[in-house]
Amino acid sequence: MDRPLTNEEIIHEEEASQDEPPASQSIIKGPFKPSDFYCVYLLNSISRRRSFYVGSTPNPPRRLLQHNGHQSMGAKRTSKEDLRPWEMVAIVHGFPSKIVALQYERALQKPQITRFIKHHERISGSSSSSGGGNASRTVHQYLANVRLLLKCDYFRRMNLKVDFFANGGYDQVYESWIENKYGVFLGEEYQVRNSFKDVGECYLDCMGTLKKQRQKYYYNDEETVVGNEKNSDCGVCGGILAKDGIGQWRSLGCYHENCEFSGHLRCIADSFLEVETQIIKEGLKKNKNNKKNKNKNKPPGGGKSKYFGSSYSQLSQSAKLLISNQTMDKGTEGVYPILPFRGKCPSCEKMLYWNQLIKSSYPDG
Ligand SMILES: [Zn+2]
Ligand SMILES: [Zn+2]
Repeated sequence: MDRPLTNEEIIHEEEASQDEPPASQSIIKGPFKPSDFYCVYLLNSISRRRSFYVGSTPNPPRRLLQHNGHQSMGAKRTSKEDLRPWEMVAIVHGFPSKIVALQYERALQKPQITRFIKHHERISGSSSSSGGGNASRTVHQYLANVRLLLKCDYFRRMNLKVDFFANGGYDQVYESWIENKYGVFLGEEYQVRNSFKDVGECYLDCMGTLKKQRQKYYYNDEETVVGNEKNSDCGVCGGILAKDGIGQWRSLGCYHENCEFSGHLRCIADSFLEVETQIIKEGLKKNKNNKKNKNKNKPPGGGKSKYFGSSYSQLSQSAKLLISNQTMDKGTEGVYPILPFRGKCPSCEKMLYWNQLIKSSYPDG
């Protein structure tokens, strides 16, 4: 849909949907349904610890069985008997869609040619001059590229998470991550864990959490979508959350435990954007004041951005975090985000990531 629906059209849609399948079902059929789970994974050969393989899947435990030949549909490179069995040592997850996960997978497979890693940041591999084919990379190089991709403008707004697995006690990959040989540092907003015994356990936990968040938010009253259990008013504007609200009037709910905040999608987005725009404005103001006396300290690569020119490098960390090439709009006073990244829940004051908010506010199925 290219334009927002008018009120008349919304009412018309509500009437039209009465004889049709439940509203919750017609809503989730649209192009907006987020993926439940999709991850990019790193396999390590148990018999040859220096061999790795990068792939992506909606179901990592099943995919691992396929790679090890216990189920059909494995990949050619992992079918060599001297490399089996494979272990899944890490996954990156939280992608909003399969397509985005595939973009991350390809970039990790071909870090020398991906547009997501800037030229001056690239990790030079030993035998990768041929253009990124099947170059043999070390675990340190793989992990540095995982970090570089998490940090890039495109992926960093997605609140992606990384999980490591020690499997049978082999912890070398996580130790290499901690060592961070190439010194690629991530901000504290990234969630990196090493808390599950294997990928099966992690997968069940992720799916369970999502289910819990959704159960908390939805209740089946004529199978329609309302809001959090006890709230049927928007926590931002105070208006009614329509049972079959669609588009910008859809309702979203806080996914943190014991919080019952819910509100219109549009109202929550606007309130997050207001704060983000303010942070960027303040960052720019600070930058203007600094400009006069700071002309020497140019960072590697010039620190330029499409929208902010060389002033980008002097923005505050939080302002930089909010800036993404994809979501900026040119206004009369400057450039502002049009898609929220994150914001504090007005009720429990915990941080809500837009990605997760959308994902947890869609029913199962
Ligand atoms: Zn509202
Ligand atoms: Zn909350």
